[in-house]
Amino acid sequence: AKNEGRNRFHYFTPAMQAAAELRRRIANDLRTAIAGNQLQLYYQPIVDLASGSIHKAEALLRWRHPEKGFISPEVFVPIAEETRMIVEIGDWVFRQAAKQVAVWQAAYHRDFQISVNKSPVQFLIENRAKSSWIEYLREHQLGEHSIVVEITESLLLDANDRVTKRLLEFRDAGIEVAIDDFGTGYSSLSYLKKFDIDYLKIDKSFVHNITPQSNDMVLCDAIISMAHRLGIKVIAEGVETEAQRDLLAAAGCDYAQGYYFSRPISAPEFEASLLDGASA
Ligand code: C2E
Ligand code: CA
Ligand code: CA
Ligand code: CA
Repeated sequence: AKNEGRNRFHYFTPAMQAAAELRRRIANDLRTAIAGNQLQLYYQPIVDLASGSIHKAEALLRWRHPEKGFISPEVFVPIAEETRMIVEIGDWVFRQAAKQVAVWQAAYHRDFQISVNKSPVQFLIENRAKSSWIEYLREHQLGEHSIVVEITESLLLDANDRVTKRLLEFRDAGIEVAIDDFGTGYSSLSYLKKFDIDYLKIDKSFVHNITPQSNDMVLCDAIISMAHRLGIKVIAEGVETEAQRDLLAAAGCDYAQGYYFSRPISAPEFEASLLDGASA
């Protein structure tokens, strides 16, 4: 274009334009996704490494778009965050998970627990004095420890008063807190003494390459012993092989999740493959 030199910083390449257009369309379609029943929760079992029992699962969003088919949360969650639709979607996720956990506690094990991911954006723009999640749990008489909220380190590093207050309310209401993707974001650990954390989830990038002598094994060992001395339980993510499972179990890791045990699956599949025939 003629003014390219001067307007360099405003110039969009066709590829950038196409990407922006796609984002805009996904944002539009996302607005109707909840009402149109296109969102679904899948559940990935979290296995107790000592006993092999499964009393926990992580809820993960799935979007079946009527024309485009399956869209990954890696794609649409960031767009939902930008447009703030993540608040409404996150509330839907929470209510679905709370309904599901009540069913599985009754049918399978009274301590069954479901964790939900909560984006920092949800904490930052929620404005109600009291969390509707806590009201929901109270109204539906769900027991303590029914729900875990997975948050990322970044939320705690620049936690303002509202975030801190909300986390304390969660604690009072029996909602547990897990740090997701632990080890990937920040070098500061000081938030671990400031906040009462229940679980650390070791990011799958550390688990992927562990072998007995590897640096990743050293890091996993260190995270596990530090967490335990702080009274925090450890969940390893992304466990894909028996060897990884065995190394983590030997290191004293409490829980693991990953394709080795099961991919995230629908609620009916979860019931069929894991809850069927099991006793409380
Ligand atoms: P995450 O919270 O770290 O979730 C773990 C991701 O690892 C999931 O991807 C899961 O399917 C995948 N995974 C599980 N086991 C393995 C394994 O053995 N190997 C490998 N390579 N991957 C494994 P998914 O379901 O595509 O979700 C991607 C991300 O989207 C999540 O990462 C989370 O950040 C976000 N997300 C998903 N559901 C929600 C939600 O309800 N709310 C919010 N705010 N974010 C969500
Ligand atoms: Ca997570
Ligand atoms: Ca994670
Ligand atoms: Ca993540």
